[in-house]
Order: sequence, then structure tokens, then C-alpha cells
Amino acid sequence: AKEQGRNSYQFYTEGMQDREVLRLELDRDLSQALANDEFVLYFQPQLNLETGRINSVEALIRWQHPVRGLLPPAEFIPLAEESGRITEIGRWVVRAACRQLTRWKGTPCEHLRIAVNLSGRELDDDTLIDHIRQTLNSEGVAPSRLEVELTEEIFIQNIEHNLNQLSQLHQLGVHLAIDDFGVGYSSLGYLRDFPVDLLKIDRSFITDVTERHDDAVITRAVINLAHNLGIQVVAEGVETEEQLHFLKAHRCNLVQGYLISCPIPAHDLEQALEEGILS
Ligand code: C2E
Ligand code: CA
Ligand code: CA
Ligand code: CA
Repeated sequence: AKEQGRNSYQFYTEGMQDREVLRLELDRDLSQALANDEFVLYFQPQLNLETGRINSVEALIRWQHPVRGLLPPAEFIPLAEESGRITEIGRWVVRAACRQLTRWKGTPCEHLRIAVNLSGRELDDDTLIDHIRQTLNSEGVAPSRLEVELTEEIFIQNIEHNLNQLSQLHQLGVHLAIDDFGVGYSSLGYLRDFPVDLLKIDRSFITDVTERHDDAVITRAVINLAHNLGIQVVAEGVETEEQLHFLKAHRCNLVQGYLISCPIPAHDLEQALEEGILS
């Protein structure tokens, strides 16, 4: 019977894709991750091209998995979106960002604004904005220190609901950035209707911006469009001096990418600002 049991187990694992087994295991582990405090935020600086200073950072989640090590979001966020656990994770992210802002008081990071990523799915939750308000309150953080990054998917479904949520967020004083701008399939009309503060031009336009005429044209057009609407522009995935030069010449407001810094732990960011490696 023992022999048979083992065989059926082997049949089961071999019959399934390794990926599927991994998914099931990760999903199980995710339910413990919050309780065990296994998530951590890394921070990637955004360089303000007008001032030459770092005034804001994007918070990017990592999962310190007890067995698999430090996992990037691509390995668990889609899973959490499917299972609905993303709601809890999002709340953790907002709280962790607010706590970090409090901890930074009296350090060279004291002036920073933190941008957090939220999934469209999280906006479905009617209590999200209240939760953000309460978290800011209880942590003693000014709403203007927080920014929320959402992708264009929120302009395709549940538009009325999402507009309502984001209007509340705007009234609260939290900034709104549109992430991965230009790769979604939504119309531009929402730029008229929604309280958008920043557009983040997707990395896919920046990568070849100095080599490809069409990417350059699109990037310039997005910058002009945004500026004419009173919206600031962030370029994502800036890796070379040439890209930086191009973006500066075309009055992009902020740049983010490996050229400035990759995402780093809070302590490393403090040190970099303290030592003037980043300013
Ligand atoms: P994103 O919001 O578009 O974040 C930018 C991603 O590009 C990050 O990957 C960042 O590490 C990477 N990156 C930054 N600079 C460069 C560069 O110069 N070159 C290249 N090749 N890549 C660069 P990461 O941290 O793996 O995050 C991937 C995605 O996971 C994010 O894309 C975001 O959609 C999602 N994500 C991250 N944190 C959270 C979170 O707290 N909540 C939710 N819902 N999603 C998150
Ligand atoms: Ca983002
Ligand atoms: Ca992005
Ligand atoms: Ca993305």
C-alpha cells in the first residue's frame, strides 16, 4: 500500500506542471506571509530634473520567503490578485509606507514622498479610501506625503465606482499617478475626468528613446500632452546618460531607473542620502 501511495503521488506531481505546483505552494504560503511579517518594502528614488534632488520614492514590495528567499512581486502579486489576498497586502503596503515616513522623521529621508502601487482590484473595495485615511491619521502622516500608482485598467471597468474612489482620494490630498502609461487600451478621455497628478511613461517607450524615432515622438508627445493638462511626467526605466539627457531636454519632470538607483531597502536609502551619493 505504501508503494502504491508513493506511485500515485509521483503520478500526481509529474502529471501537473511544475509551475502549477509552485503556484499552489506559494498560495498556501501567502496566507502565512502577513502573519509572519515576511513582506518588505524596497524604495526606488525618483530624481527631480528641475531641482536635481530626490523628493520622492516608489515603494516596491518583496517577499522574504522562508525557503525560497527574496521573491519579486511578479512571483506572487498576480497570484494574490486572483485569490483576493491582494486586498490585505495592499493595506499592509499603505501602513508600512506610512510607518516608514514616520520613522524617517529626523533623517535625511524626512522630506520624501512615497508612491505605493495598488492593483485595480483593490479599488473595488469600498472601504479602501477610509482605510487609507485612518492609516494616515493614526500614523500621523500628512496625505500629501503619499501617492498612489494605478494602471490604466481602472479606466476600463467600473469607471463610475473608480472615479468616485479616486475623487475621495484626491479630496484627501493623496496624489494619483498613472503607472505604465501608454501600454493600456483605455481612451485619453479619462485624463479629463479623473484627478490625475502624474503620468509614468512606461519603460517600453524609454528603452529605445534615443535610437528609435517613433519612441522619441511618442515620449515627447506624452510629455507635452501631460504638461498642457497640468500633469507631471515621470519616465520609468531610465538606464543610460543618453536617455537622461533626452528626457531633460524635453522637460520630463522626474526620472526613475537603474541609472539613478535600483530599488533598495530603507536603510540603504537613508545612507545614500546621508552620504550624498543621492541628493
Ligand atoms: P512597476 O510599478 O511598473 O515597477 C517598476 C518595475 O521596474 C520594478 O520591478 C522595478 O524594480 C523595475 N525597474 C526599475 N528601474 C528599472 C530599470 O532601469 N530597468 C529595468 N529593466 N527595470 C527597472 P519590480 O520591483 O519587480 O516590480 C514589478 C511590478 O510589481 C511593479 O511594476 C508593480 O506593477 C508590481 N508591484 C510592486 N510592488 C507592488 C505592491 O506593493 N503592490 C502591488 N499591487 N503591485 C506591486
Ligand atoms: Ca509602479
Ligand atoms: Ca511602471
Ligand atoms: Ca507594471
